[in-house]
Amino acid sequence: MTKLRLAIVGAGPAGIYAADILLKAERGFDVSIDLFDQLPAPYGLVRYGVAPDHPRIKGIITALREVIDRGDIRLFGNVRYGEDITLDDLKRHYNAVIFATGAVRDASLTIPGVDLDGSYGAADFVSWYDGHPDVPRTWPLTASSVAVIGNGNVALDTARMLAKHAEDLLPTEIPDNVYEVLKDSAVTDVHVFGRRGPAQVKFTPLELRELGEMRDVEMVVYDEDFDYDESSKAAIASNKQVMVIDRVLQSWRTRPSANGATDPATGAEATASRRLHLHFFARPLEIVGDDHGRVAGIRYERTEPDGEGGVRGTGEIRQTAVQAVYRAVGYFGSPLPGIPFDEKHGVIPNREGQVLHKGESSSDTDPGNEPMPGVYATGWIKRGPVGLIGHTKSDAMETIKRVINGQSGWWNPASPSEESVVQLLQSRGIRYTNLDGWHNLDQHELALGEAAGRTRIKLVPRDEMVRVSNGDDAADA
Ligand SMILES: Cc1cc2nc3c(=O)[nH]c(=O)nc-3n(C[C@H](O)[C@H](O)[C@H](O)COP(=O)(O)OP(=O)(O)OC[C@H]3O[C@@H](n4cnc5c(N)ncnc54)[C@H](O)[C@@H]3O)c2cc1C
Repeated sequence: MTKLRLAIVGAGPAGIYAADILLKAERGFDVSIDLFDQLPAPYGLVRYGVAPDHPRIKGIITALREVIDRGDIRLFGNVRYGEDITLDDLKRHYNAVIFATGAVRDASLTIPGVDLDGSYGAADFVSWYDGHPDVPRTWPLTASSVAVIGNGNVALDTARMLAKHAEDLLPTEIPDNVYEVLKDSAVTDVHVFGRRGPAQVKFTPLELRELGEMRDVEMVVYDEDFDYDESSKAAIASNKQVMVIDRVLQSWRTRPSANGATDPATGAEATASRRLHLHFFARPLEIVGDDHGRVAGIRYERTEPDGEGGVRGTGEIRQTAVQAVYRAVGYFGSPLPGIPFDEKHGVIPNREGQVLHKGESSSDTDPGNEPMPGVYATGWIKRGPVGLIGHTKSDAMETIKRVINGQSGWWNPASPSEESVVQLLQSRGIRYTNLDGWHNLDQHELALGEAAGRTRIKLVPRDEMVRVSNGDDAADA
């Protein structure tokens, strides 16, 4: 029987689901799968994107783990496609490859002032608080007033992590270095700015409601944002998600705000030490700097509904004093050597997961829409950085169908044996980690947590992760 030797690059949910679906699919050939990731640990953004105080979502790791623990997928961590292993290498050892490399960097925001000291991409901040090995260990949290630009779930994660008291994160898996920095944060006010109205936001009700549950953090919303137009009213009446969002926001209008207001029920003054302000109909125009090139404020234009579900500028310009700005305007994919890349959308061009490239018959201006034999994509790098973890499963189903039906395009590798890949990595001196290594690291993190009365403490430095994974005692010293 024919055997498919398949490489999957990216051990996030998309890559793991793709492997699982292929192994369980009805097919007329055997399969052997090697899963590569640039990080020493698997699970992609579930480990390094989902916020630490979302244990239920982090729990998806249990399901992903069951897949790789079954023993029919080999894991090669700490192996970066494009540096440690190339497309030519893959062609020499496999019949096909699926790229599931996700999106890890911030989409760009083109307003003046983005390069000022104190202007940060939310993706960098997320990587920091989730203990990503490739970002600095410290983070400057000296600002008392902070702006977050964006109205999606990542903006709310960012705002929540900035506003929440560090002690309330201790039951989570946050790394020690993150706790130490958050504990000394000077923040008192977090301002979230979105250009649309409450009926058009992209965040989900659960994420919103959670903000109101933070200890010692007052939610501040502004009455002027709730003068709904007909299209907003229609959205609230017809869409359950929008209806719940509106209900949550309305409940905060009647709560005490530490903005000088009092509790309508008790008449007492609000006393929270931190405030989280939601500003709707506010289109950021410029991050304003001081004489030293540091962030000093954010200038924005008040918008209004355009009657068609969108917004238009009113010409009214406002400014709020802040000392730091976090840009949470979306994630963006990164190009991979030898693989076509759509610069506009940050994805690998594909048709239902089959990667497309310029063929011999393509003209110079043609972006290329001929199937690239043996090359497939799935997850955020296929579809763009939107959607929840569950969506990567349906992505993977579509891609696997293409893999199974694309047998005529598979490569003919010169060295298809499983051992030959191991020899290649060893000959290059690559300190790869494997499934046993992940178990070692997992146990080590759980033990660190247990010793401190916590569930887990993540290990951050890459070197230490690799040493623990590969059983080197030096890491325990
Ligand atoms: C801040 C944030 C919070 C989120 N919160 C939630 C949530 O609460 N609930 C929810 O359902 N979804 C959430 N999501 C969405 C969820 O994380 C994504 O839907 C999902 O992770 C996308 O899966 P993926 O496998 O395509 O990409 P990723 O999870 O990014 O995995 C890609 C993998 O590829 C690897 N890789 C990249 N380049 C290379 C290379 N050159 N060589 C080798 N390996 C490489 C990466 O290291 C990574 O492990 C969140 C996303 C973000 C950004």
